[in-house]
Amino acid sequence: MTASTEKRKGDLIVLSGPSGVGKSTVIRELLLIRKDIHFSVSYTTRAPRTGERDGVNYNFISETEFQRMVDAEELLEHAEYVGHNYGTSWKVIRDHLDQGDDVLLDIDVQGARKVRERCPEAVFIFVLPPSLEELARRLRARGTDEEDVIAHRLERAKEECRYCDVYDYLVVNNEVNRTVQEILSILNVYSMRSTRRMPFAERVFQSSTEDALAATAPGEEAKP
Ligand code: 5GP
Repeated sequence: MTASTEKRKGDLIVLSGPSGVGKSTVIRELLLIRKDIHFSVSYTTRAPRTGERDGVNYNFISETEFQRMVDAEELLEHAEYVGHNYGTSWKVIRDHLDQGDDVLLDIDVQGARKVRERCPEAVFIFVLPPSLEELARRLRARGTDEEDVIAHRLERAKEECRYCDVYDYLVVNNEVNRTVQEILSILNVYSMRSTRRMPFAERVFQSSTEDALAATAPGEEAKP
């Protein structure tokens, strides 16, 4: 198969952002618009929160099973986050990318750094809060954490934001719809990068000059 007839592989999209920034809502809205994107369901050892479903939000597994996956090198990346383990299945992602599906990962900064090493061609987007005060407000509004946990999450958020230079794009989540539109714009531009468009460019320039001349007539108007 030549480069021009090869089936195109999907794009890997990595999205990160501190707890409470509104990432889940942004992802939910994004996936409603871009139904073709496959969301990678991570593996975690933490317990499900109310309303979370196994196999949908996460694959909830035991520490023993998680360790088995790590030892068997089944994970593209894995990280510990506030006392629990999280990881991304290599196989599931690879299968989807090979089928041409774009795949979205919602992972923390440690995981993103590992993905950067293994999949440098992925696009990395970080969602920032408008301010630390606003992040505190959103964490309080969730009503799920005690004050000391909120303080811990804010510290963690500051730490994470320090590493956001690993990312290609920083998006400030002032308002969900706007954030989603900005991410859609990034993905649009990303799909036009030259490495992705090369098969098309090759097809154009490998065509025969004689055929192109024969198919057209002198004086014929060009299509815009
Ligand atoms: P939560 O417990 O609030 O759902 O997630 C905590 C953090 O873990 C979030 O920043 C989320 O992006 C991150 N996370 C979720 N799945 C993965 C994963 O598979 N790998 C890594 N490295 N982080 C993950």
